[in-house]
Amino acid sequence: MKADFQRHEMPTQNPAVRIGNFDEVALGYTEELALAEAARCLNCKDAPCMQGCPVNVHIPKFIAALRAGKPDESAEILLADNNLPAICGRVCPQENQCEKFCVRREKAGGSVAIGNLERFVADYASARNVMPSCKSSCGAKVAVVGSGPASLSCAADLAKAGVKVTVFEALHKAGGVLVYGIPEFRLPKSVVGKEIEKVAALGVDIETNVVVGKTVFVEELLAGYDAVFIGSGAGLPSFLGIKGETLDGVSSANEFLTRVNLMKAYKDGAVTPVQRGKNVVVVGAGNVAMDAARTARRLGAEVTLVYRRSRAEMPARKEEILHAEEEGIKFELLTNPVEILGENGFVRGMKCVRMQLGEPDASGRRRPVELAGSEFEMACDEVIVALGTTPNPIIKRSFPALETTSKGTIVADENGRTSVDGLYAGGDAMTGAATVILAMGAGKRSAKAILRMLEEKGKIKCAECGGNSDGGNVK
Ligand SMILES: Cc1cc2nc3c(=O)[nH]c(=O)nc-3n(C[C@H](O)[C@H](O)[C@H](O)COP(=O)(O)OP(=O)(O)OC[C@H]3O[C@@H](n4cnc5c(N)ncnc54)[C@H](O)[C@@H]3O)c2cc1C
Repeated sequence: MKADFQRHEMPTQNPAVRIGNFDEVALGYTEELALAEAARCLNCKDAPCMQGCPVNVHIPKFIAALRAGKPDESAEILLADNNLPAICGRVCPQENQCEKFCVRREKAGGSVAIGNLERFVADYASARNVMPSCKSSCGAKVAVVGSGPASLSCAADLAKAGVKVTVFEALHKAGGVLVYGIPEFRLPKSVVGKEIEKVAALGVDIETNVVVGKTVFVEELLAGYDAVFIGSGAGLPSFLGIKGETLDGVSSANEFLTRVNLMKAYKDGAVTPVQRGKNVVVVGAGNVAMDAARTARRLGAEVTLVYRRSRAEMPARKEEILHAEEEGIKFELLTNPVEILGENGFVRGMKCVRMQLGEPDASGRRRPVELAGSEFEMACDEVIVALGTTPNPIIKRSFPALETTSKGTIVADENGRTSVDGLYAGGDAMTGAATVILAMGAGKRSAKAILRMLEEKGKIKCAECGGNSDGGNVK
């Protein structure tokens, strides 16, 4: 097959249509597009793209198998390293990961669309129930706290090695941010559900409605299991700290998105409805702000995004910014809220000031400085605050032996080992809010370290071969 020069972009739903539904925006490659894009891969011997993959997917190999007309083999290669590929293919910031190191990036035509190909192969595997191989039980058991990508990856790798894993999740549904945060139109919950079913099929038990630190305690888990992994995320939202933030109609992006995604508040007749403002202001400019703005737009609102720096400093992915603009989200840049205005307890507007950029701050970004005398009012009936999140303190408060930083993140080494013997941690709970793939990488590193520890304690025979030397293949 002749390799097209130009990268093949993913077809998307028309913006005018998609603002009226919650269906997936990116439609996925057809087989023809996938094969044409796979043909662009140069199959570099040193695989520079793999440097950018925290879970070490053998990218050239899975693309080569696809190109050779062997999609099952391609799926097996992908699943060997990535426990949640249909999710990564949809939400990973590939431009900063694998595609950043693609040698085609510097040439005309752009990097190979590795993420789009990953999604294609993962969806193929899901549709045909292709499963990773897994060893028979080695007798060891591990408890995993939380069910986001860090925990699911750790649990899956341990289960593949024959360890009995039980996941304890506080919410009534497993998946962490994948189910409660990222909207349906970017990551359908049926896709997440299928990936979680695959993890469960490896023999992982998932117990929902269990809040570690309230209904069961870390000490109990440490006593009852050979090791414990904490992947409790960073779900505590930050607020502006300005007057009017307790008015009716102000919410954090986390609460707003949880109600819409997890509680299905976008559907008519939902048991836990969400406020549907006509004129919504979203404060912030990261991926979470874009998700909140685009969700409010689909609920029928005119949406304005307020951000105190300029477009160049917006932390959201370029693709998300573009999609938000296509959907009619207005951006008020170099603008900072100073008060939320109310009437009879409800939001009626927001007082803002204009900013200009000064010298770079500690983050390297130019510091926004208020322009004197620039105060003005914006009318709105709902404000959604998307200014970042930190780890929930429940676990630390109930288990003070666990060392944490002043920001509430768990202190652990690169293999997830914490200050407590047998206790490991990773993902957003350790790094603060980051990305799915970084959380997954951390989960995998902890799984490896736990297997090594189990081997040292004589609980399993051979960590290198995956946990136990006698293991068969239980598909
Ligand atoms: C709206 C939104 C959009 C995002 N978009 C992207 C994106 O496009 N691409 C990307 O790469 N990243 C994105 N991220 C970031 C990414 O989702 C996170 O970095 C990732 O989910 C972190 O994984 P985790 O497993 O560490 O934690 P989480 O996904 O937060 O999962 C933690 C889980 O632990 C549970 N838990 C917490 N405390 C307890 C307890 N005490 N007991 C039991 N269970 C507990 C929580 O309920 C939760 O289910 C987004 C984040 C948000 C909020």
